[in-house]
Amino acid sequence: MTARKLLLAVLSALALLVLAVLANTYRKGSRQLDVEPLAHVKVDGMAAAQRLAGAVRLRTISYDDQPDGAAEEFLKFHAYLQAAFPRTHQTLRREVVGGYSLLYTWQGSDPGAKPIMLMAHQDVVPIAEGTEKDWAVDPFAGTVKDGFIWGRGSWDDKGNLLSMLEAIESLLAQGFQPKQTIYVVAGHDEEVGGERGARKIAELLASRSVRLDFVMDEGTLITDGIIKGLDKPVALIGVAEKGILTLSVSAHDEPGHASMPPRDTAIGMLSAALTRLEQDQMPAAIGGVAAEMFDTLAPEMQGVNRVLLSNLWLFGPLVRKELEKSRSSNAFTRTTTALTVVRSGNKVNVVPAHAEAYVNFRLLPGDSQEEVIRHAQDVVANAAIELRRTGPSSEASPISGTDASSYRLMSRTIREIFPGTVVAPGLMVAATDSRHMLPLADHVYRFSPVRATERDLSRFHGTNERLSIENYTQMIAFYQRFISSAGQSAQP
Ligand SMILES: [Zn+2]
Repeated sequence: MTARKLLLAVLSALALLVLAVLANTYRKGSRQLDVEPLAHVKVDGMAAAQRLAGAVRLRTISYDDQPDGAAEEFLKFHAYLQAAFPRTHQTLRREVVGGYSLLYTWQGSDPGAKPIMLMAHQDVVPIAEGTEKDWAVDPFAGTVKDGFIWGRGSWDDKGNLLSMLEAIESLLAQGFQPKQTIYVVAGHDEEVGGERGARKIAELLASRSVRLDFVMDEGTLITDGIIKGLDKPVALIGVAEKGILTLSVSAHDEPGHASMPPRDTAIGMLSAALTRLEQDQMPAAIGGVAAEMFDTLAPEMQGVNRVLLSNLWLFGPLVRKELEKSRSSNAFTRTTTALTVVRSGNKVNVVPAHAEAYVNFRLLPGDSQEEVIRHAQDVVANAAIELRRTGPSSEASPISGTDASSYRLMSRTIREIFPGTVVAPGLMVAATDSRHMLPLADHVYRFSPVRATERDLSRFHGTNERLSIENYTQMIAFYQRFISSAGQSAQP
């Protein structure tokens, strides 16, 4: 072949490649449902904000070490809900389960329609020691000012719980009855695993042979400016949730004096193992939920990001490298490894015989606990290091389909109440109470109609947690519309 012919061949191959990339980029149209924004849902935002503020004042804190630490506050919280939402408490059946968790049953008109479940939790995380002074307001004062409801729980998760109850209260005032039975579950120990609350409710419903069409729990959000290349707000519906596994990693050796140390110490061996575990993590991949998310988002993007995400067959490795750079996007491309606890030694001149650490893994759907344990053993590659499973664990959830009518219902309602918002499936990287309902439900979604920017994310479980009154009003409108439309997609 002459040089000229070779050049021609290379050029035409390049042209074909560019053509394929462009075709992929512009062939895929928008997957967004075409819906009319809902003109007006009547909500008295200020009165509702005051009711949420009242709920924030009750310190329903979950403590790891004392299960009944806030017992009295939970009882006060229950009485508060009864007073604030009288119609709801007259019409819905209310059961107290596991001490302080609440199960409401709103009987549907069609006994043949499959029930649905809305979930939120009553408990909140404590204020981290030393951060009290960083709050702009007292975190439990229930302050309403500058257009926000401030305080611990205003967002996570009393905002969700009370906006559901606000919606139910107004629908009852309008004489509405749902077609399918609606369960509302308000757990009291979500922040510490939900074993005494949501799990007990799941067992109770299973004993009554309840089968659910779908569950909606707190979850992924409506974010603004977080996804590169997209200038519209994005609502991610959590169609799956990562699993959890904690391994205790420990090393043992002869104890000794620091003046004559052994060659291998327990601390030294453990440190080496931990370094290897952190550096050699489970591989990243853009598959499953992440792939479908990008497929859905790409047509809504502009410029180079659209080209890259529409052509993962070619740019996949490049995109993956980019995603691995940020903590949040890294978390949805792989099973993550986090070193969380190290314990050893208590005297400066004694070499301890024992060193132990906890390593917390969050499992991507598709990676099993067994596979992660095998990976950890391979990476540590030291028979003297003991690996042991510890604490509560769960496999990653199955992935709920986006072709279900319940997914379309959520998607449609989001676009009615938050016009211009792009809806896509997402992955919930933290655990929610909804995982206890997996055995009962055909589909499980994790979504909070809460709008957040990058800067707001640190308020979650953090300092200066707050929710805007405008957003809260939209949340109430969202649940009203969602509940009243649910009958149309009721599953037999
Ligand atoms: Zn929460």
